[in-house]
Amino acid sequence: MSKKTSTKGTLKGKPKLTSFQEKKPLTPYQGKDPCFGWFLCTKCNKSWSSAYSWANTHQQCKSCLGNIYPYMQKKLEKGQGKATKTPHPMDLCGKCKTLGFNCQNSPKNRT
Ligand SMILES: [Zn+2]
Ligand SMILES: [Zn+2]
Repeated sequence: MSKKTSTKGTLKGKPKLTSFQEKKPLTPYQGKDPCFGWFLCTKCNKSWSSAYSWANTHQQCKSCLGNIYPYMQKKLEKGQGKATKTPHPMDLCGKCKTLGFNCQNSPKNRT
């Protein structure tokens, strides 16, 4: 008498294919209004802050001109943005480039 033990290897687990990529927010803040943003270019180890940073909008690093998204954002208090002494770097701000003018002068989005 022979005992036959057959072990059939069943391959489980199909490779999951995701045809679409989940949209990840590029910035911590996801709103319509501009806010204070802190940026860090890991390439140049350069950090800066901007009184006008927008949701899902990058600013360029002054040194390497890489597109940097803010790692931290904070909502502006009323009138805080225009009270800052440092001029807004229009040529480095992605929002300004999209708008074609200084984003500080952009009217609030109305629905
Ligand atoms: Zn850089
Ligand atoms: Zn701007």
